[in-house]
Amino acid sequence: MTKTHKGVFINNGHAPTFQLSDTGSIMTGLPCFRREKFRLHQFHFHFRHGEHDGTEHEMEGVKYAAELHMVHYNVKYGSFVKAVDKYDGLAVVAVLMEVILNHGTHCSFNPFDIVPKYHNFFYYKGSLTTPGCYQSVHWLIFKEKIFIKPETLKVFRDMRTKHGEPISKRGNIRPVQPLFMRHLLINFFPKKPKKEFSTYPCMDLRATTEFKLDFPYV
Ligand SMILES: [Zn+2]
Repeated sequence: MTKTHKGVFINNGHAPTFQLSDTGSIMTGLPCFRREKFRLHQFHFHFRHGEHDGTEHEMEGVKYAAELHMVHYNVKYGSFVKAVDKYDGLAVVAVLMEVILNHGTHCSFNPFDIVPKYHNFFYYKGSLTTPGCYQSVHWLIFKEKIFIKPETLKVFRDMRTKHGEPISKRGNIRPVQPLFMRHLLINFFPKKPKKEFSTYPCMDLRATTEFKLDFPYV
């Protein structure tokens, strides 16, 4: 059973953001941090003005229209503010979004409803993409994309802060950063093995009230 969160959907100056007003779901099972609990804090969207340049991550050199980030903080720090700059402070689940013109497509702001059907992930330890850019984020990026309607993208672009300001004209994405020496973990067998993929753990994300991950081989 999925948990639908209550909250407000606002332009906070950085991104269209759903700020939870209730207690966020818990996610566990991250590689090397399997016992740590991460609580959902908020989710938000990144985009630009085209339909092929709005994601902060790219796959095989390809970007898509928008990117959903579900931001979790490590419960041992007690709050997002206290966790934000800690090495193991945050975990962000990312879903890339492709534009679809079919008006019948399901669209919802419950992140647990819109995560892709197949739970194939990339994982790396990286940084925040918003000011501060702390090296505090466990990144989990779905391999499978979901769809977003052009009308929904327009809603993001048109959203104003309480001072009447839109998101930046250039959108709100940080340029792709080099991988450097980071390990990139995956939980699926790629068609074309890449040297940067360091292992093939089996990970299972369950969209329940306990947002559980499983990396048994890490
Ligand atoms: Zn983000």
